[in-house]
Amino acid sequence: MTILTAGKANYRARIERAAGLAERPELAAREILSFYGVLANFQKNYYEALLKSWGKNGVAPASGDLRSELNLGVVLEAFGELLELVGERGPGALAEAARAFQSKGWARQGEILGEFWKTGLMQSDSGAAVLEEDSHHQTMRNFFARAMLQPYAEFVGGAMLPPAPVMTVCRCPRCNALPLLGVLRPEGDGGKRFLMCSFCSLEWEFRRILCAKCGEDDEKKLPVYVAEQMPHLRMECCETCKHFLRTVDLTKDGNAVPLVDDLAAVPFSLWAEEMGYQRIQGNLLGT
Ligand SMILES: [Zn+2]
Ligand SMILES: [Zn+2]
Repeated sequence: MTILTAGKANYRARIERAAGLAERPELAAREILSFYGVLANFQKNYYEALLKSWGKNGVAPASGDLRSELNLGVVLEAFGELLELVGERGPGALAEAARAFQSKGWARQGEILGEFWKTGLMQSDSGAAVLEEDSHHQTMRNFFARAMLQPYAEFVGGAMLPPAPVMTVCRCPRCNALPLLGVLRPEGDGGKRFLMCSFCSLEWEFRRILCAKCGEDDEKKLPVYVAEQMPHLRMECCETCKHFLRTVDLTKDGNAVPLVDDLAAVPFSLWAEEMGYQRIQGNLLGT
């Protein structure tokens, strides 16, 4: 099994891709992508600052388990900055939630981050409605912890040795979270399929004809749908467990940045809901 250890997370590419897709009116995702751009810029600065504030030593946890330690010393202050940023520039419900979090104080904020670090994204969480007015507390908590800990997980994960290869696992071999996306990467005259972790962004190879939720491997029960507006995005569905995996096909659009193109795929989510399919794991903004 191949594991992609991409090394440094490329936030600049994410930011540029978000700005580019925001300009495409047929996607109707301008607002979402502009807000994502603000978040990704924060994450980029944080990711770069980690190297300075933490250095290179002692980053990888001694136990070899990504989730075993959270270094609150390099997280909490930045978390305060994230809350302030979203309080000022986030859409209504999120801005309000950010202010409520600020008033909780560092001890409680540390607990929330610690809890997410231990168990976040191991269960399905659609992230639904994170941008809606009536978003639930838990959804909000997960949003802030996820936005904060994504670059942290990518940084610490990048300092670790790659996990031991296992064949076609449905969960991240490094941190046990559910996959966020499928990614088809060009190989030969086709594409090789990888799953991307929703928590630490690791990618691991996965068979093409296989449900990433229940292991169904009968091709007739695994229909694939493609949207007109974004032909490089695939909805890989499973009739057996009624889940779907959104897959970014880099053989069709080599400029796509999977994490970002996924955020722009709003029509897909609405369609999936109507068809009765559930996403294995939702993205940061629940789109
Ligand atoms: Zn992971
Ligand atoms: Zn299935």
